[in-house]
Amino acid sequence: MLNPWETTDIKDYNKLIEEFGITPMKPTKELMDNRYFRRGIIFGHRDFFKFWNADKRSILTGIMPSGPMHLGHKMVVDQCVYYQNKGIKTRIAIADVEAITTRRIPEEKAREYAVEEYLLNWVALGLDLDKADVYAQTNRSVPYYRLASLLSGRTTMAEMQAIYGELTPGKVTSIFIQASDILHPQLDEYDGLEHVLVPVGVDQDPHIRFVRDLAEKIHFIKPSSTYHRFMTGLEGGKMSSSVPNSYLALNDDLPTALKKASNVLTGGRNTAEEQRRLGGDISKCVVYELYAYHFIEDDDELKKIYEDCTSGKMLCGECKQILKKKVEEFMTDLKNKREANREKVEQFAKEKLFK
Ligand code: SF4
Repeated sequence: MLNPWETTDIKDYNKLIEEFGITPMKPTKELMDNRYFRRGIIFGHRDFFKFWNADKRSILTGIMPSGPMHLGHKMVVDQCVYYQNKGIKTRIAIADVEAITTRRIPEEKAREYAVEEYLLNWVALGLDLDKADVYAQTNRSVPYYRLASLLSGRTTMAEMQAIYGELTPGKVTSIFIQASDILHPQLDEYDGLEHVLVPVGVDQDPHIRFVRDLAEKIHFIKPSSTYHRFMTGLEGGKMSSSVPNSYLALNDDLPTALKKASNVLTGGRNTAEEQRRLGGDISKCVVYELYAYHFIEDDDELKKIYEDCTSGKMLCGECKQILKKKVEEFMTDLKNKREANREKVEQFAKEKLFK
């Protein structure tokens, strides 16, 4: 069972596609300007092309303000910024109700995380705050909450347990609030019926299935979704918010970030001689994954790393130096952009988000 509240380790994406009836993503030429589509990182979807080809459409995502923002979260930001740059309306829900009810984060702390960890980095990564509809779940409109309440009458506990497994009162509350996040743009008080895309990691598919069912019951357009692969933890295994060495946090200071980069798992062989002879085992290499997902946009540059690695021309020590340089550039640039936008973001949070 996929679980939206726990870190999931997916071994076989094809099996997942089959079991949950996800449609494999076959990107059109138009989408090839996005590395997540181009490189198969977005591997599946539900009704993506209905959204993509619609005249009236928007995207929606949630920010969970319960801990540090890391490279796994950045994948959603990159996708949202991509759609926003294409002129698609972008809505971002700060999931503070969920942080408070299911993760037991105090409200003030959730607000701090929302700004310090998330919004500042979203803007630094390219979100245009002026053109986005960013709101906190604790501070939305009456029709939004009314919808959440009405939706709770359109299902049963048995249906919910079949999708989510064991539930608590906090989880039930957050499920209906999240359902309203995804569906309320279609209320007359907002934009009316439209195609809404939710780009998510595949662990969020239970929510998507549940909300699509609800949409049908209230005669709304079923929301679309895309699913991206999970990143491997920096030292191998799962990337988990509770294990700091498994991720690069966007607010890590530079020495910490560089230390983490030094420890990233490689696909190196036992000896240099063996690696020169056999090449690196790139399928196991997290350094290469970091390049493909985040740090190398240019396909030719990535191909060169691939060839130099698998031919044994380049060894992991040299390759890691390249990674460290890229991490340093990225983190320095991000920090500068955060600080350049700090005043604007803090003012936005005070006046509009948590007023
Ligand atoms: S050379 Fe680079 S890409 Fe190849 S296994 Fe080593 S770190 Fe990974």
